[in-house]
Amino acid sequence: MTITEKCPCGSGQIYEKCCQPYHNGSDFPQNAYLLMRSRYSAYVLDRPEYIMATTHVTSPYYSENRFIWKRRIAQFTSETEFQRLEILDFKEFDDLAVVTFVVHAAQKNKDFTFTEKSYFIKANRQWFYRSGLCIAGRVPELITRDKTKVLPLAYYGDPVLRKQAEPIEEITDEIRQLAEDMIETMFVCYGAGLAAPQVHRSVRMFVIFNSHEEGAEPVVLINPKVSNPSKRLVSESEACLSIPFVREDVQRPDAITVEYTTIEGKQVIKECSGMEARIIMHENDHINGVLFIDRLTKKVRSEIDPVLKTIESRMEKNK
Ligand SMILES: [Zn+2]
Ligand SMILES: [Zn+2]
Repeated sequence: MTITEKCPCGSGQIYEKCCQPYHNGSDFPQNAYLLMRSRYSAYVLDRPEYIMATTHVTSPYYSENRFIWKRRIAQFTSETEFQRLEILDFKEFDDLAVVTFVVHAAQKNKDFTFTEKSYFIKANRQWFYRSGLCIAGRVPELITRDKTKVLPLAYYGDPVLRKQAEPIEEITDEIRQLAEDMIETMFVCYGAGLAAPQVHRSVRMFVIFNSHEEGAEPVVLINPKVSNPSKRLVSESEACLSIPFVREDVQRPDAITVEYTTIEGKQVIKECSGMEARIIMHENDHINGVLFIDRLTKKVRSEIDPVLKTIESRMEKNK
């Protein structure tokens, strides 16, 4: 492309004055909105190095193997004819931003559109792409609601994840706001549950969302107590937003009883089983400083140990 051509990000400016300084490293995007646009134009112009350099280490797309990663991006770029970027929404918080955008493109001469609610984080005063929730078609419903916040996550190695969390004495406005922000954060990260220590707050509260259940709504559990574990144990795979890249089978009771206070202050006693019980046990572990990897067999744990060490050292670098 010649320097007088319009930038593919759709800004209307010429490339040299728009995304080129970002792509060649002479400047950094000041916000996640500009980063999003410049990543899109990097895809269009086949600049996989830029995509890689602006992906955060906790991203599910991040790869230690730069060669394979680069080839994967280059393959997507070469198969895709990008037509237009449409940004539906941009919200920026302290260290996090959410950009919802639509990509209009074609593959093998067939038009396609997808909407992505993408999630950016700031580390070392620089913005990075973290992850995205991607749906086929043009889906404006994905836009993040106003007033809610996406909270920064604590990752494996952070001492807050190993603390015994404090009981909540009173449901204040601050606790209600925290619960609301945790629900939004869980949705953005595509999680089934999120405990307060995972967002750096050492209090006994977690939110869950069992998407396996039809018409499910997010639930807030305050000061929960788990009892009556069934003798029957089941093994199912689990993952944790605080431990990216790791998914392993964990054995847990099939059913439990949980007693908790709702966000409205009501006492609830409920018997649960299956996926719901599993999510509750996983999150309940978090408020006791326990992680699902502690429940793996010695053999499996030693197999994933190198991955955990890598996460820990990367987190150090990215503080
Ligand atoms: Zn541009
Ligand atoms: Zn977890």
